[in-house]
Amino acid sequence: MSFHKKFHETFTSCPNCGKRLNHEKNSVSCETCKKVWYNNPAPATSIALIKDGKILLAKRKIEPHKGEWDILGGFIEAGESAEETVIREMKEETTLDVEVDEYLGSVWDIYEGRPTLPMLYLVKMKNKNQIPTPQDDVEELKWFTKSEIPKNLAFRNVEIILQKVQKYLKK
Ligand SMILES: [Zn+2]
Repeated sequence: MSFHKKFHETFTSCPNCGKRLNHEKNSVSCETCKKVWYNNPAPATSIALIKDGKILLAKRKIEPHKGEWDILGGFIEAGESAEETVIREMKEETTLDVEVDEYLGSVWDIYEGRPTLPMLYLVKMKNKNQIPTPQDDVEELKWFTKSEIPKNLAFRNVEIILQKVQKYLKK
């Protein structure tokens, strides 16, 4: 898995002085400016909402992995906590109001060649009667039991979060 290929292809010259950058494994640096830029993973959230033994998955409306099944969630914005991202993303993608139930850990992943770090959360609906409605970059929302989970999953973190919540799912 190449975590840094895209980074090194993108960052070729110094944004300050325009000089060619030196490339280390996970960073680039400018000899003139004495600055270093690291290819750190972008923090993100991945959200498992389970109701009556079924998990809510989203079919992606956009590239990458358009048409494949994804977990809900998204990138953390500056000034936001991971928990605030979870609540915002669920509202944006499904219209649902949720609260964070449990933190399930983090995993490395890759999004369009860039390293990411999704933090996995189990959430609860604030109002069990709310109906999820696809919004934003979501084509379709569907509830799945364990045996119904589709094969075409978009990202590594989706498989991992599904393993972590197996015990809550119906066969
Ligand atoms: Zn420079």
